[in-house]
Amino acid sequence: MAKTIYIAGLGLIGASMALGIKRDHPDYEILGYNRSQASRDIALERGMIDRATDDFASFAPLADIIILSLPIQQTLDFIEKLASIDLKEGVIISDAGSTKSTIVSTAEKYFADKSVRFVGAHPMAGSHKTGAASADVNLFENAYYIFTPSSLTTSDTLEEMRDLLSGLHARFIEIDAEEHDRVTSQISHFPHILASGLMGQTASYAEEHEMARRFAAGGFRDMTRIAESEPGMWTSILLSNRETIMERIEDFKGRLDEIEQAISKGDENQIWNFFNQAREQRQAMEIHKRGGVDSSYDLYIDVPDEEDVILRILELLRGTSLVNIHINEENREDVHGILQISFKNAQDLKRAEQVITENTDYTVVIK
Ligand code: NAD
Repeated sequence: MAKTIYIAGLGLIGASMALGIKRDHPDYEILGYNRSQASRDIALERGMIDRATDDFASFAPLADIIILSLPIQQTLDFIEKLASIDLKEGVIISDAGSTKSTIVSTAEKYFADKSVRFVGAHPMAGSHKTGAASADVNLFENAYYIFTPSSLTTSDTLEEMRDLLSGLHARFIEIDAEEHDRVTSQISHFPHILASGLMGQTASYAEEHEMARRFAAGGFRDMTRIAESEPGMWTSILLSNRETIMERIEDFKGRLDEIEQAISKGDENQIWNFFNQAREQRQAMEIHKRGGVDSSYDLYIDVPDEEDVILRILELLRGTSLVNIHINEENREDVHGILQISFKNAQDLKRAEQVITENTDYTVVIK
């Protein structure tokens, strides 16, 4: 039976979800709310949604499923608004916020005595882009789409959500909201703090030491890439997961103190262990075994600086889809080859390694 879906917030995430829903359910009616006219117009023109409004409350009673794809604070505000609207019996309400405990507990509070099925959600894909103009039907492909059930999530809620979102081609998993916030504080929120802190420290240092800018290369780029993330989103993430993130900061301070002491004492063993342990831990980590949220499969090729060498490699890879090609800069201390090619999956990577090894005598490294 065709359903009516209401997406509030036609930004990158909301508009990409609309495209994914349309892919598998072209008969569903998708209603969209957006504050600014620009994203409403784009979403209508590109057929992502069927009808648009700037009055959030007006479409809410029509929907079988409502997805809030707004910044975290607005998600909380809109949950409160929904509680005072006469919604369809048994409506499913979900969201897309990057932190989950506050959103889930707010929904449990406001919808406690209503006929609402609420399930928190965090699609683990995105980019630095914003707005409906950046929407991409493949944004969530193979990415984790995390559901954080609440006391208002009945057994059929997740089944209906998975069916609705099947066209996203995401990997659906369920996890408790608090555990979600703990895990993401360690692998996402705290690394963002580190990246921005490191960037800030380096920028100040470079004012006195100009060469710092020039020598910064692969390792520095890898460590600071996420410092270019959208500041508003990260401010709201930190503010909605404060305790957990502060624990991570405290823990890290202890680790910094330990290595500082080892350096101060000149303790060669401890310093060696510090690096060796991390190296072994990283090698054993899942990140090497499968594509993480935004990971790619990288091949490094030590090509000589000769005419047409890159064309020759690309010719060998004809027919294989490449995600990225990069020529590493002068400082290559921490990378494994001059030419770095990224692939979408492990099969393409293996195939490329084999073809290049068989047809050239260049050193090929997978990392
Ligand atoms: P976006 O900036 O592209 O879109 C945000 C949407 O919220 C827009 O439609 C905007 O009009 C609307 N909005 C902002 N402030 C509003 C207000 N005061 N009142 C009404 N509407 C308002 O952002 P996005 O990337 O689509 O993020 C949406 C949600 O998804 C956020 O909660 C974010 O944490 C989460 N998320 C983002 C990513 C990512 O990498 N971009 C990944 C996973 C989850």
